[in-house]
Amino acid sequence: MKYYSTQRKVKEVSFEEAIFKGLPDDNGLYMPEVIPKLPKSFFESAEDLPFYQLAFEVLSPFVKGEINPDALLGIVRSAFDFDIPLVHIHDQVYSLELFHGPTLAFKDFGARFMARAMAYFLKKQGREINILVATSGDTGSAVAQGFFEIPGIKVTILYPSGKVSKIQEKQLTTVGSNVHALEVEGTFDDCQRLVKAAFLDVPLNKKLHLSSANSINIARLLPQSLYYFHAWRTLAGYPDEAIFSVPSGNFGNLSGGILAKKMGLPVRGFIAATNLNRIVPDYIESGKFNPRSSIATISNAMDVGNPSNFQRMMALYNGDYNALKKEISGFYLDDEATRQVISKVYSEYDYLMCPHSAIGYEALKQNRKNFDIKMPGIFLSTASPSKFTDVVEPVINNTISMPERLQQIIDRKKQSTVIGSDYETFREFLLSQGPV
Ligand SMILES: *Cc1c(COP(=O)(O)O)cnc(C)c1O
Repeated sequence: MKYYSTQRKVKEVSFEEAIFKGLPDDNGLYMPEVIPKLPKSFFESAEDLPFYQLAFEVLSPFVKGEINPDALLGIVRSAFDFDIPLVHIHDQVYSLELFHGPTLAFKDFGARFMARAMAYFLKKQGREINILVATSGDTGSAVAQGFFEIPGIKVTILYPSGKVSKIQEKQLTTVGSNVHALEVEGTFDDCQRLVKAAFLDVPLNKKLHLSSANSINIARLLPQSLYYFHAWRTLAGYPDEAIFSVPSGNFGNLSGGILAKKMGLPVRGFIAATNLNRIVPDYIESGKFNPRSSIATISNAMDVGNPSNFQRMMALYNGDYNALKKEISGFYLDDEATRQVISKVYSEYDYLMCPHSAIGYEALKQNRKNFDIKMPGIFLSTASPSKFTDVVEPVINNTISMPERLQQIIDRKKQSTVIGSDYETFREFLLSQGPV
């Protein structure tokens, strides 16, 4: 499979090149040249497959000839070694819990697959790299965990100072070993800008062999299509169609869903659900894409003012606004309403959601009025509520127990380096750290 840049100004590359380059030189994003249609037999037998086998079938065409089948099976088996429950909430409303991996958030899927795929190629190449990651919350910890102690890879994580939750900060700053946390005095958009600038800095790349691990990396995107198949095949009787509601920030998760649909998954429609950073819902409404500064909210992993995967969404619809609008509806919710949703669902259905997932739930609930009520609706639960105790506990007026994995991290000491948000300072920091 070849991968092209959405800007179409550079030539196509292999999966191996795309994964290490992260961002093409023309500032586009890599996309697979063709989207393979899965055979009928896959859908007929999907119910019986263990998840890693499903993952193997879906991902094989994307890495064919580059990762041998045995190695791929090994990678997906070790990457996806946790549960993915589909929980019935009420009526035809289901929660797809994507937070049972090591960092209790859905980004474990992409990060764990990417780390293992990279390790596979680096071993073959006998090479070492530096990975840069900008995070608004969960990305960083998923990547840090995914790469922890992988030989030949050093990871630098940038996060906006004071704008991630206490627990997220601990997860970012306590990994140690080959993983270093940079606390940037600025917003998440500043962090993203710094990382983008470094990738476009050719002399710096020559010295440090930079690579990305953000949701822009194609190896993060592909596995995010897997659980849409899994959700559908877990529903009784293989419904003809389903609706997916996706709490979104950079729109990697939703892009994974669109990819699954293009591969043949029977999806009626998606809901692009955001907090007040409503750039994409506004686009769907008006046809105008207006990136702006991000606004801080209680669903902070979705505080994105310039969604980086927007180009990919457009590419998946061949740039056709009307085609996109036909399949995706927009929805947004402010913090106060989000708190009310958490509270209501907790008291009525005894189900506790993190603020991101709550927006997904409400988007689905309000949107379902436009569909056949028998059609199953699935909202993606992107993080465990136990990672957001500071928001959730006052809302439900109760304490929630902390998973042991999290408690151990909270007890560790934070280690980070504080820097300003200008590129020169960042560049100097990287050079002072040297190669791997
Ligand atoms: C990253 C994240 C999102 C948004 O996902 P995108 O792929 O960036 O749209 C939503 N919820 C949580 C908990 C996240 O960590």
